[in-house]
Amino acid sequence: MESTRVERLATRDGIVGDALTIRRALPHPKHRTIGAWCFLDHAGPMVISDGRGMRVGPHPHIGLSTFTWHIEGETLHRDSLGNAQVIRPGQVNLMTAGRGISHSEESVIGGSPNVHLAQLWIALPESARHGDPSFQHYPELPTATVDDYRATVLVGNACGRVSPVAVHTPLFGIDLFAEDVAGATVPLDPRFEYGAMALEGGFELDDGPLGPGALVYLSPGHTTLRVRSRGRARLLLIGGEPFADDILLWWNFVARSQAELEQATADWNAGSERFGTVQGYDGPRLVAPALAGLHLR
Ligand code: MN
Repeated sequence: MESTRVERLATRDGIVGDALTIRRALPHPKHRTIGAWCFLDHAGPMVISDGRGMRVGPHPHIGLSTFTWHIEGETLHRDSLGNAQVIRPGQVNLMTAGRGISHSEESVIGGSPNVHLAQLWIALPESARHGDPSFQHYPELPTATVDDYRATVLVGNACGRVSPVAVHTPLFGIDLFAEDVAGATVPLDPRFEYGAMALEGGFELDDGPLGPGALVYLSPGHTTLRVRSRGRARLLLIGGEPFADDILLWWNFVARSQAELEQATADWNAGSERFGTVQGYDGPRLVAPALAGLHLR
């Protein structure tokens, strides 16, 4: 176990779609990916009371799956495959871009003003990143009890429960929730690296506290994670086999070369059929900014 390590990574604050305040944990300069997880935004919990809520106009993706875990509020997803799907608390949307897709996201008019969700991206391996786009809504995820916590199995398996969410590389994700004093020893796969983020409340880990604004990274080799909390608390724990390929992540694209990013940018801004058309969204599509090669993250 000597080679295992635990690191605390600071998150960055940002705003998505004019109204939604987020904490961005991935990509991080020290860890661009955790398994195939390559992007992690935690939005809320917050109240958007202007009656319009969150609105993100049509925009493209390539080379990744977007994974949305909804905790509070409702969001309407529309995509270029013709899907229009409301996602509610306890549900997951998985949109796999493959070679290209576009979508919009907006709060449901007249719905709850509360917003609390996590949106993650999963980098696709070479075998899947040029494939057809697809969208899947998962209305229910399996739950299990992990000591004092209720666990929702988002991706992979935990406590013998298997998530139906279809992914292309060995991957893991659970949401741990408790409302009172709680503790648990979570079994880990030593082949995986992991990231833990507090979505509500605060936690005590063996090496110190974990509150808002930080992500704890665990290298491969760990077999357990011990967590403790007091009062209402929610932890997102993600993991996976370290991703084999070096990826380039820029704007809404995941690729392997700058030429691929430039082509995707040109295709989207030219209205190419590659990304289809999102029907029914009342507002402008987003414009891809010019690619600045020195600022790839
Ligand atoms: Mn998107």
